[in-house]
Amino acid sequence: MPAATVRTLAPGAEALLGREVPVLDLGFVQAIDYMGTDEDIVQAARVSYGPSTRKVHDDRGLLRYLMRHRHTTPFEMCEVKFRCKMPIFVARQWIRHRTANVNEMSLRYSEAPDEFYVPKLEAVTLQSTTNKQGRDAETALPAEQQASVVALMRARNDQAYADYQRLAGELGIARELARTVLPVSLYTQWIWKIDLHNLMHFLDLRLDPHAQIEIRVFAEAMAEFVKAWVPLAWEAFVDYRREAVPLSRLEARAVGHLLAGMDEARVASACAEAGLKGRELQEFQTKLIRLRALSGPGSDE
Ligand SMILES: Cc1cc2nc3c(=O)[nH]c(=O)nc-3n(C[C@H](O)[C@H](O)[C@H](O)COP(=O)(O)OP(=O)(O)OC[C@H]3O[C@@H](n4cnc5c(N)ncnc54)[C@H](O)[C@@H]3O)c2cc1C
Repeated sequence: MPAATVRTLAPGAEALLGREVPVLDLGFVQAIDYMGTDEDIVQAARVSYGPSTRKVHDDRGLLRYLMRHRHTTPFEMCEVKFRCKMPIFVARQWIRHRTANVNEMSLRYSEAPDEFYVPKLEAVTLQSTTNKQGRDAETALPAEQQASVVALMRARNDQAYADYQRLAGELGIARELARTVLPVSLYTQWIWKIDLHNLMHFLDLRLDPHAQIEIRVFAEAMAEFVKAWVPLAWEAFVDYRREAVPLSRLEARAVGHLLAGMDEARVASACAEAGLKGRELQEFQTKLIRLRALSGPGSDE
């Protein structure tokens, strides 16, 4: 029988906790613990705003207000801990997110597993000629070429692992040195703990199509947990971060020019169609005033 707890539980998170979600060929993401719920984010904000705020906002409205206005610290009140297994080249990108707490498997202590990432055939593509950091998803490679690339990768991994075993096993060389012959396709594991604010920052960057697909799929697995754990925070994150379209100064000016000739009735009906209302509508109207002002005289270079 589970021990009684006085903690607030998130039913969506409880349902997924401990489940290993497979990612890539041999990796996974497993949420192993969490702290806080949507309600805790709202409670933390009410400490700042005072009890009278309760009359003004419902929980969802307040949470959305916080996200919209980048009042971020209440989101830091929630934390989550994942156990993850990923290739080392993915871990190198992932570890750049400095706001997490990490404990990684050590190849000084433990023997390296014979586990290497090999892409699926369809993931084998050419280097993009337009994006130096990306793949050419348009040009289809012949299946034989994809198969020969995968075969070369497997052969390299096998040879590297055989060399490693010879060094660390047969020759008794220190594991910390023997590992240096292993490629970055080798799988590693870690425990990764992060607060919700920084996790959303991570997800924003790593769910993006600019992120390498091999880290994006880990972000997608984590996003599924977040959606279930804090559904209101997730909804606000999607509305105000993931699907928001920030404008540069010049882009804002161009939109200002477009708006300049538009009559009020047309703008009002577009707002209604989009579902904008209440405080969010007022905020949008303020933005429209700013955008229109950008199209006026004196705003040119
Ligand atoms: C598509 C993509 C391509 C990339 N390409 C490259 C690349 O080619 N080369 C490369 O080196 N990196 C690359 N990166 C990594 C990138 O530069 C960041 O290091 C990474 O995304 C982590 O972002 P962050 O620092 O905002 O996150 P976190 O480390 O989680 O930090 C979150 C925020 O906390 C603050 N912060 C944390 N630590 C410090 C600190 N020490 N000092 C000041 N502020 C701090 C910053 O405001 C930061 O935005 C790439 C990332 C992406 C998503």
